[in-house]
Amino acid sequence: MGVNLCVIEGDGIGREIIPAAVQILHVVAPQVNVVVAEAGWDTFERQGSALPDETMQLAVDCGAVLFGAAASPSYPVDGYAVPIVRLRRQLQTYASLRPTNYLPVPTARDGVDLIVVRENTEDLYIGHEYTADNGHTGISEKVITRRATERVARKTYELARAAGRHKVTIVHKASVLLQSDGLFRKVALEVGAAYPDILTDELLVDTAAYWMVKDPSRFDMLLTPNLYGDILSDMAAAWGGGLGLAPSLSLGDGVALAEPVHGCAPDIAGQNIANPTAAILSLALLLRHHWGMHEAASQIENAVRVTLAAGFHTADIHFDGALSTQAYTDRVCMNLG
Ligand code: ATP
Repeated sequence: MGVNLCVIEGDGIGREIIPAAVQILHVVAPQVNVVVAEAGWDTFERQGSALPDETMQLAVDCGAVLFGAAASPSYPVDGYAVPIVRLRRQLQTYASLRPTNYLPVPTARDGVDLIVVRENTEDLYIGHEYTADNGHTGISEKVITRRATERVARKTYELARAAGRHKVTIVHKASVLLQSDGLFRKVALEVGAAYPDILTDELLVDTAAYWMVKDPSRFDMLLTPNLYGDILSDMAAAWGGGLGLAPSLSLGDGVALAEPVHGCAPDIAGQNIANPTAAILSLALLLRHHWGMHEAASQIENAVRVTLAAGFHTADIHFDGALSTQAYTDRVCMNLG
């Protein structure tokens, strides 16, 4: 059986940036078979489900997904569930990788080269919420388990080793949250001890936030519970030059889900002006970390770097001289070498 990639454009600019990434894929890895599937708000309006069973099955069968973005209504709609959340749960992608590397654009900070690895299945995001005291008290349960911490920690150290990274910083607030973050810290340190070639250190989340602002170049890889990783990776993305440049990859055991950090950007959809870089770099992450296609991944990353360094860019980076999505993608393609 060949290598299959389930491609879901979704809504809004997903329909522009994902075809751009697929255009690049056809050049660097023509052996990958693209399987197109549907999800999102538009799909919900037409089929009554934002993530049809057929799409879920294709995603599971392929084991690798490139997802654009899905629109969410700003009001509750009966039967509508955000497709990406269901997809992540179904695929059990428990480690979310969000790298920030310096790219040659005026909005980025030089010297930053870090990866936030965020536990993706538990913590305060498990949805155990309720009220007490006649609605005057809101309670959200924070759950940390040994099993989930162990698997995300192991994945982090394996990635560190494979990527030639030298340090993992474990982020927590174990000084206050003794039972939950205390367990995360303990288990992560235990796992880290089995990787003596990688330096392990730890920081309280507030101190990590301070250093993320003051000197992000001190970080190599960060291993965090769900909530802290959500916040710290957005802070890191600001150093990367903006949403149009921020890629992500969620990994499970033998499955991967690549998606740009940004949403479907309805304000600029359909105008051929969206920046496809985040989607293109998400694809590179998938090629590297899921399929081990390092050469193809480096080819893409270098082409993006060369294109931006030569001053070619979309309007979100710099309005003057901005290229359309298609023209920028063609430039990246030309630079693939
Ligand atoms: P959603 O509800 O899907 O998250 P949103 O518009 O609230 O959509 P984003 O899609 O993340 O959130 O967009 C936030 C802002 O960043 C918007 O002004 C959008 O135009 C801009 N933006 C996001 N992604 C890109 C991109 N790839 N290229 C250019 N601008 C972008």
